[in-house]
Amino acid sequence: MTSDCPAAQSLPAGASSAEMATALDGWFRRSARRLPWREAPTPYRVWIAEVMLQQTTVAACRPRFERFIRRFPDVRALAAASLEDVLSEWEGLGYYSRARNLWSAAKMIVDFHGGELPSDIESLQALPGIGKYTAGAIRSIAFDLPSGMVDANIRRVLGRVAGIEPSNAAERSVFQLCLSLSASGSPRIVNQALMELGSLVCLPRGPLCGECPFRSFCRARLEERFDCWHGSVPKEARVVQVEEVCITASVEENWLISRPRDGRWRGMWEFPRARVEDGSAAPAELARSVLERDFGVVPVSVQHTGSLRYRVTVHDTQLHIVSAMLPGEPGCALREWRLVPPAELAAIPLPSPMRRIARTLISQRLAGLDIHGRGGA
Ligand code: SF4
Repeated sequence: MTSDCPAAQSLPAGASSAEMATALDGWFRRSARRLPWREAPTPYRVWIAEVMLQQTTVAACRPRFERFIRRFPDVRALAAASLEDVLSEWEGLGYYSRARNLWSAAKMIVDFHGGELPSDIESLQALPGIGKYTAGAIRSIAFDLPSGMVDANIRRVLGRVAGIEPSNAAERSVFQLCLSLSASGSPRIVNQALMELGSLVCLPRGPLCGECPFRSFCRARLEERFDCWHGSVPKEARVVQVEEVCITASVEENWLISRPRDGRWRGMWEFPRARVEDGSAAPAELARSVLERDFGVVPVSVQHTGSLRYRVTVHDTQLHIVSAMLPGEPGCALREWRLVPPAELAAIPLPSPMRRIARTLISQRLAGLDIHGRGGA
């Protein structure tokens, strides 16, 4: 490597790319966690894992990854599935645009790449939901081809090792250094090792330098400067308190309406609900007026059955659940609606708070309870 190469300028004193790659390789083989997506790292499995890990913890991804792969074992199976099935499988992982993008990308891979993920960065980045980092991860881990990639972990590890100060230009230096290391060893091992090192050893606060393969030449360690790249302190988010009323109709089947096409949780279903503007009114009365105003239904009776709390971004929502007995079949003029037997609720994609309500309804039904007193088992 010549000295005008950006990566050469970023290397810590006393270390070459090859030495760093070798140190990473040895450490990874000794210390890496056994994770399901690391076994048989086919392009499809790596892609699904990287997308799942984007906003979900490793612990949460572990069982869900295996379940997803069982249900959609390859690109063609994913492309052939309905969006509703994919959303349903993704339920609970959050950030549902990831599931929609996986589904759209699978169709593109079948249509334009013969059902095989491409290995070049440009083609990967042309697929929905695959950005620069994920493309680099797929190329290096799945195809074992040299790639630069920068996430918070890799940025911190390489920034500290090479003494790169955080800045816009630093991003490029870290990328080039990662590319250079991956080209000096097994890209599959080197890039995974950098990610793993950032997760397990080079922690934002209190890095475990004694266990690190870079400890003999790491600039941050030698200069005892861990203040850079320690990770930003989370800002106090301004929490907005919200109240909603959610209606479960007391009919043999569950009345669901589709989520709006252009908002959060689109493609999923929910029990009818509405934001409460007048916090002084009782939930049952609010539900009655929502039913009349938004659905043109005058309920026979309404009963407040409980409340739950959920939080999405800065919105902390108190959700009042009201069971309504309706005079006949419900409907909805503005959105799709459907009636679903309790036994089929599990297969319908519902946002997490709605799933909690559905579970309660199913257990009430199994226990033979009818809160409107229409008899039970
Ligand atoms: S020696 Fe310490 S600071 Fe440097 S990379 Fe390793 S864990 Fe991070």
